[in-house]
Amino acid sequence: MKDLEEIIEELKKFRAKRIFIQFADGLRYKIQEIVKKIEEHGFECVISLEPLYGACDVRDLESERLDCDVILHIGHSNFGVPSRIPVVYWDYFYEVDALYALKKEIDKLNQFKKIGLITSLQFVPAMEKVKDYLQKIGKEVYVHKSLKYPGQILGCDVRAAKKIEKKVDCFLYVGAGKFHSLGVTIAVKKPVLSLDVEKKQVYSLEKEKNVWLKKKAWYDVKLKDARRIGIIVCWKKGQNRIDEAEKLKKELENKGKEVYILAFDNVSKDKTEGLKLDGLINLACPRLDDELIF
Ligand code: SF4
Repeated sequence: MKDLEEIIEELKKFRAKRIFIQFADGLRYKIQEIVKKIEEHGFECVISLEPLYGACDVRDLESERLDCDVILHIGHSNFGVPSRIPVVYWDYFYEVDALYALKKEIDKLNQFKKIGLITSLQFVPAMEKVKDYLQKIGKEVYVHKSLKYPGQILGCDVRAAKKIEKKVDCFLYVGAGKFHSLGVTIAVKKPVLSLDVEKKQVYSLEKEKNVWLKKKAWYDVKLKDARRIGIIVCWKKGQNRIDEAEKLKKELENKGKEVYILAFDNVSKDKTEGLKLDGLINLACPRLDDELIF
């Protein structure tokens, strides 16, 4: 992870005066402290309080409107979303004690010898410690690098798990919450356990997966019979799939459906209230399926 001094140097290279700050929600408790330190170097900062879930969300137009010259994107790594103004990505890692929960709950891994480790960006160092510990107690540990860091996944990119699926008995996700871990659980056939550093527990997501699969099967049947369908697209720069939506709309219309393309900034089912629709198809962040269609 880059330290503050390196970030300051990068900002200076762009001769930035006013910086538009976008930050991962988990940094909410720290953001004022971070901004104060940046401002000590003579920069003006504007903090975006709009929800931010990933590097797919780059707010260049909003930054321009507020006369900012650079975006500082804290807590996500660059995955190549184009921007009208420079973006500095700060891969901010969280300081967490993953070993406390792992040691306390290690019995839950007794039946597994070969373990595939996965994590999300903020927990990369914690995963390294988990890897060392598991190897010390005799487990075979597999980690695949398909994004910037070994083992790193996104809600929409679980290649780090898929690539090693055949080699492992189970996956252990090191992180917090279910946004990432449920995405992997749905995508792979091997068991997935979550080492949740906030709850300080190791737990399986099989129950959630089964509920999800049942609901999905039910929803797919419902969608076949639906007459009026809404296709959800999102105008966040890294989630824009409008061409795909247009193509799908034509295909469905050829099958006799009535189809509308519905555009969102932050997608939420509540916003479709009052529309006459029998079903929704999500072409925005895939991890929103649960909220949207169920
Ligand atoms: S599309 Fe969803 S899962 Fe992918 S980076 Fe954006 S917020 Fe994360």
